[in-house]
Amino acid sequence: MTLIRFKASQEQDVDLSRTYDAVVVGSGAAGGMAAHVLTAQGMKVLLLEAGKKIPIEQELRSMEWPYDHPRRGEFPPGDHALRYNEYTVRQPPYAKGAAFKHVFSYVGGWGGSDYVKNILVDEKDHPYTGTRYAWVRARLLGGKTNIWGRLALRLSDYDFKGKTHDGYGEDWPISYADIQPYYDKVDTYLGISGHNENLPHLPDSLFQRPNKLTAAEITLRKSLATMGRVLTPYRAGVTTDGVKNKYRSKCFGRGACGRRPGGCDIHAAFDSPTGLIYPAMDTGNLTLRTNSIAHEVLVDQNSGKARGISFVDAVNNRTYEAKARVVILAASTLESARLLLLSKSRQYPNGIGNSSGHVGHNFCEHVMGPGATGMVKELVGAAPTLDDGKPGGFYVPRFRNLQDKQPGFVRGYGFEGGSGFSIFPDGAWDTPGFGGQFKKTVRDHAGAFISLGGFGEVLARYENYVDLDPAVKDRWGIPVLRFNYQFGDNEKKMCEDMATTAREMFEQAGIEVIGVDKRILTEGWSIHELGTARMGSDPKTSVLNQFQQSHDVRNLFVVDGSSHVSASCQNPTWTIMALAWRSCEHLADEFKRGNV
Ligand SMILES: Cc1cc2nc3c(=O)[nH]c(=O)nc-3n(C[C@H](O)[C@H](O)[C@H](O)COP(=O)(O)OP(=O)(O)OC[C@H]3O[C@@H](n4cnc5c(N)ncnc54)[C@H](O)[C@@H]3O)c2cc1C
Ligand code: SF4
Repeated sequence: MTLIRFKASQEQDVDLSRTYDAVVVGSGAAGGMAAHVLTAQGMKVLLLEAGKKIPIEQELRSMEWPYDHPRRGEFPPGDHALRYNEYTVRQPPYAKGAAFKHVFSYVGGWGGSDYVKNILVDEKDHPYTGTRYAWVRARLLGGKTNIWGRLALRLSDYDFKGKTHDGYGEDWPISYADIQPYYDKVDTYLGISGHNENLPHLPDSLFQRPNKLTAAEITLRKSLATMGRVLTPYRAGVTTDGVKNKYRSKCFGRGACGRRPGGCDIHAAFDSPTGLIYPAMDTGNLTLRTNSIAHEVLVDQNSGKARGISFVDAVNNRTYEAKARVVILAASTLESARLLLLSKSRQYPNGIGNSSGHVGHNFCEHVMGPGATGMVKELVGAAPTLDDGKPGGFYVPRFRNLQDKQPGFVRGYGFEGGSGFSIFPDGAWDTPGFGGQFKKTVRDHAGAFISLGGFGEVLARYENYVDLDPAVKDRWGIPVLRFNYQFGDNEKKMCEDMATTAREMFEQAGIEVIGVDKRILTEGWSIHELGTARMGSDPKTSVLNQFQQSHDVRNLFVVDGSSHVSASCQNPTWTIMALAWRSCEHLADEFKRGNV
């Protein structure tokens, strides 16, 4: 007989008896960057990640053809991805009472949902309550960066100094000149592809080779130039020329990242594990503990400083403590706010770092939905071309409320767009008929479509906030977030304008408009949630200073999008990382001087 001995528990081999220089919570864009910068400065860092580490290349199966998958990429029976109508007709928690075995956010419904079933959270385990909100979460090493859309844009002083420009909201406590060197560092270290346009409101990055525009996009670009607007190749957080990083390859232009919810199995597209965490581990200064759900920032009773993190092991459900001299939250905008609010103590009865009462408030993001689809008639029947063999289409930067002043709304919006042949021919669903004639019509038109979809700034408002639900808890018994959030008039007026200008741009370019979408997608749809612990100079109206350091607790930092003062209309991830780099460099200097 063979005696097989199992370990009594599944505890991970991480030394929790020692006091680390810093503990970082969350391993996405923000936490990965914190780990990278601090370990490079010689600090001993413990990284706690709530999710597991999965063999991501096997999960993504980037090069698998639809017909090689038993269900053409769809979920196993019994799993379900939430749909637009469910988000709008029902109230959260959306999975409550659902007959499905697992319920995922709407991103699971993008062709190929089987590829994200271990990446997106199961809404049954992770409920939330309150007003309607499409909250997309990825709980695994690297967080949402495993499947992000790669559009990597800078903010400008039109964003950082928005109040000075138009009188609304608050200015950021930094200007473009403060963050520009860190954008440059992020560009150089991680790689970004794009084309210089020299626009004051969308500063250029240090670009690697851009993706080629299609014939339809060149037509539109030329026409937009006559209107004083710009169409530029997708600024992709993807290395097209390569970077010094043994875990990543340069882009082979296979377009796989755009065909399903995202992800690149050769890691040409930035993701936090290969871009930041594995190189940080190679320094010997980083310790990683996965399956570690932080639920409280621990406080020293005497000094009031943070002394570590209390976390639950997601597998064995036991609670542990991690000790550190500095605590850095990077669990994503909403999860970091939740963690601050959960961390109630005698010294911090409203939650740690919340003397201003602003934690959870000023919550903002991007509004999306309106756009247009057009057809370039000259391309109907043209020979097929490889149009989607690239990591993105194009971007039309903001053109509203720069020099002009729109009557109905402040701030602006940009458009993401795409065109040409793709793996599944555009228009196939809407083409009537069957048989040979149907196939010919679909093939003839497949490369002629072009589309535009707007992303607009949602104004930061104190009234839009999250707090803790007094009754509902997640699978691990941790109180969940309650949303008190909705779009206002400014967003609605802006969306009307988006639909109008999308049509106008196609018409001006001689592109036949075949559809204009005026529908506003549910709050949360952009997956760009921001602003729940904003930075500022005044501790009465802000949570963090310009280095994302708590006004109240000097060894507590929050380095994700929760620190953003306004949403701008540009996608946030590159700014999240540039800010985190700046703050962590400052933190490491202060740490060496004994100031934190
Ligand atoms: C489909 C999709 C497309 C997107 N497209 C774009 C785009 O084109 N451009 C762009 O700029 N952005 C895009 N985004 C958004 C982008 O992914 C996020 O801005 C970015 O990942 C935010 O980084 P983060 O570190 O704050 O959060 P995340 O990447 O979500 O990482 C947070 C991490 O913290 C962990 N965590 C959470 N709670 C806890 C806890 N209590 N304890 C321990 N760990 C915890 C999570 O498991 C996760 O790993 C997209 C996102 C998705 C899903
Ligand atoms: S197009 Fe480039 S970034 Fe996208 S999956 Fe292919 S190699 Fe990766």
